[in-house]
Amino acid sequence: MKFLLVDDSRTMRNIWKKVVSSIAGTEVFEAGDGLEGLKQITENGPFDVMLVDWNMPNMDGLTMVTKVRETDKKSIIIMCTTEAEKPRIIEAIKAGVNNYVVKPFTPDTLLTKIDDTLKKAGVGQPA
Ligand SMILES: [Mg+2]
Repeated sequence: MKFLLVDDSRTMRNIWKKVVSSIAGTEVFEAGDGLEGLKQITENGPFDVMLVDWNMPNMDGLTMVTKVRETDKKSIIIMCTTEAEKPRIIEAIKAGVNNYVVKPFTPDTLLTKIDDTLKKAGVGQPA
Protein backbone atom coordinates (compact mmCIF):
# COMPACT_ATOMS: atom_id res chain seq x y z
CA MET A 1 0.00 0.00 0.00
CA LYS A 2 1.14 3.50 -0.80
CA PHE A 3 0.99 6.10 1.95
CA LEU A 4 1.39 9.85 1.75
CA LEU A 5 2.21 11.67 4.99
CA VAL A 6 1.53 15.40 4.90
CA ASP A 7 2.63 17.42 7.91
CA ASP A 8 4.72 20.56 8.36
CA SER A 9 6.44 19.02 11.38
CA ARG A 10 9.31 16.74 10.43
CA THR A 11 9.20 15.19 13.90
CA MET A 12 5.54 14.34 13.40
CA ARG A 13 6.24 12.86 9.95
CA ASN A 14 8.99 10.71 11.42
CA ILE A 15 6.62 9.38 14.07
CA TRP A 16 3.95 8.62 11.46
CA LYS A 17 6.55 7.08 9.19
CA LYS A 18 7.73 4.73 11.90
CA VAL A 19 4.17 3.63 12.68
CA VAL A 20 3.08 3.25 9.07
CA SER A 21 6.27 1.41 8.11
CA SER A 22 5.40 -1.28 10.66
CA ILE A 23 2.56 -2.30 8.32
CA ALA A 24 4.01 -4.86 5.92
CA GLY A 25 4.43 -3.90 2.28
CA THR A 26 3.97 -0.18 2.62
CA GLU A 27 5.63 2.46 0.52
CA VAL A 28 5.79 5.84 2.24
CA PHE A 29 6.02 9.31 0.71
CA GLU A 30 6.13 12.63 2.56
CA ALA A 31 5.19 16.25 2.07
CA GLY A 32 5.65 19.32 4.27
CA ASP A 33 2.46 21.17 3.33
CA GLY A 34 -0.64 20.92 1.16
CA LEU A 35 1.07 22.24 -1.95
CA GLU A 36 3.86 19.70 -1.65
CA GLY A 37 1.21 17.08 -0.99
CA LEU A 38 -0.56 17.85 -4.27
CA LYS A 39 2.82 17.77 -6.03
CA GLN A 40 3.54 14.32 -4.59
CA ILE A 41 0.16 13.10 -5.84
CA THR A 42 0.95 14.37 -9.34
CA GLU A 43 4.43 12.87 -9.33
CA ASN A 44 4.03 9.67 -7.29
CA GLY A 45 0.30 9.15 -6.80
CA PRO A 46 -2.28 7.84 -6.57
CA PHE A 47 -1.93 6.90 -2.89
CA ASP A 48 -4.01 4.33 -1.06
CA VAL A 49 -3.91 6.24 2.21
CA MET A 50 -3.11 9.86 2.98
CA LEU A 51 -2.52 11.17 6.49
CA VAL A 52 -3.01 14.91 6.34
CA ASP A 53 -2.28 17.41 9.08
CA TRP A 54 -4.83 20.21 9.40
CA ASN A 55 -2.66 23.16 10.29
CA MET A 56 0.18 23.78 7.79
CA PRO A 57 1.73 26.78 6.04
CA ASN A 58 1.21 27.55 2.31
CA MET A 59 -1.79 25.24 2.01
CA ASP A 60 -3.64 23.74 4.98
CA GLY A 61 -4.98 20.21 5.16
CA LEU A 62 -8.62 21.13 4.61
CA THR A 63 -7.82 23.00 1.39
CA MET A 64 -5.65 20.14 0.19
CA VAL A 65 -8.37 17.56 0.89
CA THR A 66 -10.95 19.68 -0.95
CA LYS A 67 -8.65 19.86 -3.98
CA VAL A 68 -7.84 16.15 -3.89
CA ARG A 69 -11.53 15.21 -3.77
CA GLU A 70 -12.26 17.22 -6.93
CA THR A 71 -10.73 14.34 -8.87
CA ASP A 72 -10.02 11.52 -6.42
CA LYS A 73 -12.91 10.05 -4.46
CA LYS A 74 -11.14 6.78 -3.80
CA SER A 75 -8.02 7.39 -1.73
CA ILE A 76 -8.46 7.00 2.00
CA ILE A 77 -7.82 10.29 3.77
CA ILE A 78 -7.27 10.54 7.52
CA MET A 79 -7.06 14.06 8.92
CA CYS A 80 -4.79 14.78 11.82
CA THR A 81 -6.16 17.44 14.14
CA THR A 82 -5.44 19.10 17.45
CA GLU A 83 -8.02 19.39 20.24
CA ALA A 84 -8.59 23.01 19.12
CA GLU A 85 -9.42 21.96 15.56
CA LYS A 86 -11.77 19.19 16.65
CA PRO A 87 -14.93 21.37 16.62
CA ARG A 88 -14.32 21.91 12.89
CA ILE A 89 -14.16 18.20 12.10
CA ILE A 90 -17.61 18.25 10.46
CA GLU A 91 -16.11 20.57 7.85
CA ALA A 92 -13.39 18.05 7.18
CA ILE A 93 -15.90 15.20 6.84
CA LYS A 94 -17.89 17.33 4.39
CA ALA A 95 -14.68 17.99 2.46
CA GLY A 96 -14.29 14.24 2.11
CA VAL A 97 -11.99 12.88 4.81
CA ASN A 98 -12.71 9.28 5.78
CA ASN A 99 -11.63 9.64 9.38
CA TYR A 100 -9.59 11.76 11.77
CA VAL A 101 -7.12 11.31 14.57
CA VAL A 102 -6.54 13.80 17.37
CA LYS A 103 -2.98 14.70 18.39
CA PRO A 104 -1.23 13.55 20.47
CA PHE A 105 -1.84 9.90 19.69
CA THR A 106 -0.02 6.67 20.41
CA PRO A 107 1.29 4.40 17.63
CA ASP A 108 -1.44 1.90 18.57
CA THR A 109 -4.18 4.51 18.21
CA LEU A 110 -2.93 5.45 14.76
CA LEU A 111 -2.64 1.83 13.59
CA THR A 112 -6.13 1.03 14.89
CA LYS A 113 -7.48 4.16 13.21
CA ILE A 114 -5.91 3.23 9.86
CA ASP A 115 -7.17 -0.35 10.17
CA ASP A 116 -10.74 0.72 11.07
CA THR A 117 -10.85 3.27 8.29
CA LEU A 118 -9.67 0.78 5.67
CA LYS A 119 -12.23 -1.77 6.84
CA LYS A 120 -15.02 0.80 6.79
CA ALA A 121 -14.02 1.78 3.26
CA GLY A 122 -14.06 -1.88 2.26
CA VAL A 123 -10.40 -1.87 1.35
CA GLY A 124 -9.51 -4.71 3.71
CA GLN A 125 -6.90 -4.47 6.36
CA PRO A 126 -3.21 -4.11 5.71
CA ALA A 127 -1.27 -7.38 5.63
MG1 LIG B 1 0.90 21.31 11.57
